[in-house]
Amino acid sequence: MKFATLVSCFERLEATSSRNEMIALLARLLAAATPDEIGIVCYFVLGEIGPGYSEVNLGIGDRTAAAAIALAAGTDPASVDAAARELGDYGDVAARLIAAPGGEALSVAEIHRSLSEIAGASGPGSADRKVSLLAELLAAATPPQRRYILRLAAGEMRLGVGDMTILDALAEAFLGSKAQRPPLEHAYNISSDIGRVARTLREEGLFGVRAITVTLHKPIRPMLTRRVARISEILERIGSPVIAVEEKYDGERIQAHKDGDDVTLFSRRLTDVTHQYPDIVRHVRQYVTADTAILDGEAVAFDHETGTYRPFQTLMRRRRKYRVSEVAGEIPATYRAFDLLYVDGESCLYRSYPERRAKLEEVIGRDEHISPADRIVTGDTDGITEFYLACIERGLEGVVCKSCADDSFYRAGAREWQWIKWKSDYAPGLSDTLDLVIVGANAGRGKRAGTYGSVLCAAYNHEEDLFQTVCGMGAGFSDVDLSDLPRRLAAAKVDRQPARVMVNPQAAPDFWFAPARVVEVLGLEITESPVHTCNWDPERRRGLALRFPRFVRWRDEKSPEQATTAAEIAAMFRRQREV
Ligand code: AMP
Repeated sequence: MKFATLVSCFERLEATSSRNEMIALLARLLAAATPDEIGIVCYFVLGEIGPGYSEVNLGIGDRTAAAAIALAAGTDPASVDAAARELGDYGDVAARLIAAPGGEALSVAEIHRSLSEIAGASGPGSADRKVSLLAELLAAATPPQRRYILRLAAGEMRLGVGDMTILDALAEAFLGSKAQRPPLEHAYNISSDIGRVARTLREEGLFGVRAITVTLHKPIRPMLTRRVARISEILERIGSPVIAVEEKYDGERIQAHKDGDDVTLFSRRLTDVTHQYPDIVRHVRQYVTADTAILDGEAVAFDHETGTYRPFQTLMRRRRKYRVSEVAGEIPATYRAFDLLYVDGESCLYRSYPERRAKLEEVIGRDEHISPADRIVTGDTDGITEFYLACIERGLEGVVCKSCADDSFYRAGAREWQWIKWKSDYAPGLSDTLDLVIVGANAGRGKRAGTYGSVLCAAYNHEEDLFQTVCGMGAGFSDVDLSDLPRRLAAAKVDRQPARVMVNPQAAPDFWFAPARVVEVLGLEITESPVHTCNWDPERRRGLALRFPRFVRWRDEKSPEQATTAAEIAAMFRRQREV
């Protein structure tokens, strides 16, 4: 195929505003391509010269483009820069300055060979080599072709064609209708190589496309999450009786391919980031027991000394070409794996999530460097909420809820209701903690026998000088915190309801405490309550309560009168209603 044919199609693609027309134009173009060319045509239309993961990105800068135009035009770079300032586009600059008329003879394959050579040039003298190769191409091309050669070289094609448009066009060209896209899309999602799908379809038909399978060291397009407006919608949307609620890490999505000792890491955008994470490469090699595996997960900067996650921005300092191992030493990365896509030579994409997860736990142990994502399995919204709050408390972003149904396959490249994220920024006000005073406790049962099962917490009503209850709290305590509770509260224990403590009979605890000990508490929201006495309205018989309270820490430095006041809680309640 002549490059001129492609260029006239590019021009028409740019001129149309109809997606259907785009598909028709592309279908005609693709139908005319030979098996050797069809892949290249797909890459070119997307502004690339190979599959996105292949690292053969051109992305040459303005300086190289200007030098190449100057060389082809026999002028100096300063005149090119002056023309670029005036015209704003190197394609137009080339059209004006390069006098050679060029010819129509250049083929798509020739352009691809030269561009690949430019992309691959490295080492001493490579900058000059890039300039002279590009200059040769420009001199041989016609003015309209020059514009697209420069755009391709800069990695800025901007035709407005997406990968799904090309898949529609392939379906229309070779399978009769764009309705036939799904098998092509599937092959694309697991191979991430549209050129390969096109070539296979052209040469072997649908049969060949269906035979494309997961391949080690070739990235699979990642499954994506959806979001909902309210946490209570999650279960219904996912639609399975129980779901998994996993920790949501705010790090970098990494797909790890292990092939014996050979490990390749891909980013969410499918670029090869192996060299950036030598530590994760080591952990995958060392701790993944299967000989071959593909894991999906997140690289995070976890501070093992403090037990907390470091911010995303800190991890992003690992994104670099130079001083990689030095910075890896300063900011070690931990890998949290949340899925298994391939193991022992076979794809797991069509196994259900519970099966994949069970296998994942089998092939990686729980080590501080690499471990399966922490999670719970639950069938109710309160379960999701509690786990979510526990995650926020640990400094995580939120949770990802996942279907456990029989058809909970790994949907490569898809954003469906199988995975739903719930993040802290969806629920304003939640991140505020309250400092509350412990005024009572109930006896512990079962695992908590011998200590308290929950404590009754109160806010301070400054105007009335009363401690008014806000919640009973049993969540958020570690085992050590729990067993320590009786000792901590012993000095405040009294045998009847203290005078300044206002409690409704329904909330009366087994044991009473004089207002003394202050705790920091995280909760979901403030609601009206017939039980709790905070801001008690005797007419409506309603107070305010904190839902889903969780213990954060003791605030020994605070006196009970320095606790959060009832007025502050009333203000929070009003603010919450405004958003
Ligand atoms: P967002 O980037 O906010 O659209 O959220 C989706 C991203 O969350 C994914 O692409 C992953 O990088 C990340 N993530 C963190 N933890 C998980 C998890 N347990 N399951 C799936 N994705 C996760």
